[in-house]
Amino acid sequence: MGAKRKVCFTGPMRVKIAEDILRSAGCELVLGKPQDDFRTFRYERKELVQLIGDCPIVYPSGRDVIGGEILDSCPDLQAVVKSSIGIETVDVEAATDLGILCCNSPTPENYLGVAEATMGFMVALFKRLKFNETFFRNGGWKELENRGTLMIGRTVGIVGVGRIGQNVAKRLGGWGMKILGYDPYVKQEAVDHLGVTMVSLDQLLKESDVVTLHVVLTRETRGMIGMRELKLMKPTAFIVNTSRGPAIKETDLVRALNEKIIAGAALDVFEEEPMPADNPLRQVDPHRLILTPHNIGANPGSGEAGQKMAAESMLAILDGKIPDTVVNPLAIPRWKERFCS
Ligand code: NAD
Repeated sequence: MGAKRKVCFTGPMRVKIAEDILRSAGCELVLGKPQDDFRTFRYERKELVQLIGDCPIVYPSGRDVIGGEILDSCPDLQAVVKSSIGIETVDVEAATDLGILCCNSPTPENYLGVAEATMGFMVALFKRLKFNETFFRNGGWKELENRGTLMIGRTVGIVGVGRIGQNVAKRLGGWGMKILGYDPYVKQEAVDHLGVTMVSLDQLLKESDVVTLHVVLTRETRGMIGMRELKLMKPTAFIVNTSRGPAIKETDLVRALNEKIIAGAALDVFEEEPMPADNPLRQVDPHRLILTPHNIGANPGSGEAGQKMAAESMLAILDGKIPDTVVNPLAIPRWKERFCS
């Protein structure tokens, strides 16, 4: 089909697996400003269009947003490939209309890492780990009122019962906890084997002792947890978010924690990343809020695996093949029409 073997890396990373794989397959690489060194840098639309130029593939870093106007301004662009699971920084709808393939990289290292981290967050919250550790280091010893809560018999509510949500349910298998799920796109039969009972979001929020979010970020899920939803939760309940920050309205969460509408939270993801220094979440009582810098699921193999999967998707597309990682299969007929004839 004669596409140029040329890939634009908008923000090359210190881990170079994708670069190495593509270079050894004979690809020419166009490199933008490194994401590791310019985390808060934002390209102007024109600059990004210029950088992508005639590359058939763009490999955007987490920092770079690929909107519809950019896609529309790059006539040679066949695919946008991400090394992460989340692909909300790409206008997938516009790409689909234009026949541009969008791929993510759901590696087990990534989704199992997040499922394990979620377990850690839940245990830390129920057992008051942060409070007791600080209390002890400051000279305290065990006190009756500082005890944690038994998890057996309690209820976990999983919002978004996809790869990570299901892997959290799987890990909860031996814990003797009741598992509720909410996901309008997952049927009860699909999660029977995991012991998950699918319910409405309101029922899940009312009955759960911990709510854990594992949704993809879409128009529907953005801001899905606000004050109304937080007020439905028990005052003793916790919320965990390792999915995407904007799924929770942060201002409402800050208020709910400060006013003890809920008991605590653990967050790995934020509305704005890197999280600004003046974000009011930083002022919330640290014993009731665990914050990690969007890395709690990361592990030495996760970045490498994501890059490898992304590079394999790119090479398949350059060879005129459709990789399994395409998230917008409706783009395929137009892609074939535009680029394979
Ligand atoms: P997935 O696509 O397998 O699952 C997401 C689920 O969300 C799907 O089952 C989908 O049906 C569901 N969903 C969609 N709209 C919904 C709605 N309105 N209400 C409830 N559920 C809805 O994705 P995954 O691999 O399980 O990843 C889940 C999330 O975790 C994604 O947002 C991803 O970006 C994020 N993630 C975070 C990290 C991290 O480092 N913290 C790492 C990997 C993935």
